[in-house]
Amino acid sequence: MPTIFSQIVDGEIPARTVYEDETTFAFLDANPLAPGHTLVIPKDEYERLNDVPDDVAADLYATIHDLVPAVEDAVDADGTTVAFNNGEAAGQEVPHVHCHIVPRFEGDGGGPIHAIAGETPDLADDELDDIAADIESIV
Ligand code: 5GP
Repeated sequence: MPTIFSQIVDGEIPARTVYEDETTFAFLDANPLAPGHTLVIPKDEYERLNDVPDDVAADLYATIHDLVPAVEDAVDADGTTVAFNNGEAAGQEVPHVHCHIVPRFEGDGGGPIHAIAGETPDLADDELDDIAADIESIV
C-alpha cells in the first residue's frame, strides 16, 4: 500500500503542490502549524532519513535549501523551524521521509527545537566522552 504522500505525488490525493522535480516534491501541510507550513519529500518511499540513498539525500537537501527562503518570503516570516520527525519515537506519523518547513514569526508563542525534550539528561563528562567516541567510531 503506497503511503499517503506517494498518493499525493501520484495525484491520487489532492494537495497544494509548491515544487516538483525528478526526485523531490513539496506541498503545503494539510494541518499547518503556521501559514506556509510546507513538507518536502523524496518522491520514492523511504521510511527514515538513513534509508534515503546519498544522491536522493543531496537532491532533498537542495530542494529544502531552495524552498526555505521561498517559503519565508511568501508568508513574510522572520525565520523557519526546519525539522524531520525521524521514527515513531520522534513523532513520525507518515512512514515516508518528510521535512517540515515551519515559518516562524517574532512573538508567535512557539518554542525552539529544544522544546522537544521531555526531561533533559544530566550527563557527566566521561559519559559525554563515551557517547562522542561511540558515534565517531560508528559513522
Ligand atoms: P509527521 O508527524 O509524520 O512528521 O507529520 C506528518 C504531517 O503530514 C502532519 O503535519 C500532517 O498534517 C501532514 N499530513 C498528513 N496527511 C496529509 C495529507 O493527506 N495531505 C497533506 N497535505 N498533509 C498531510
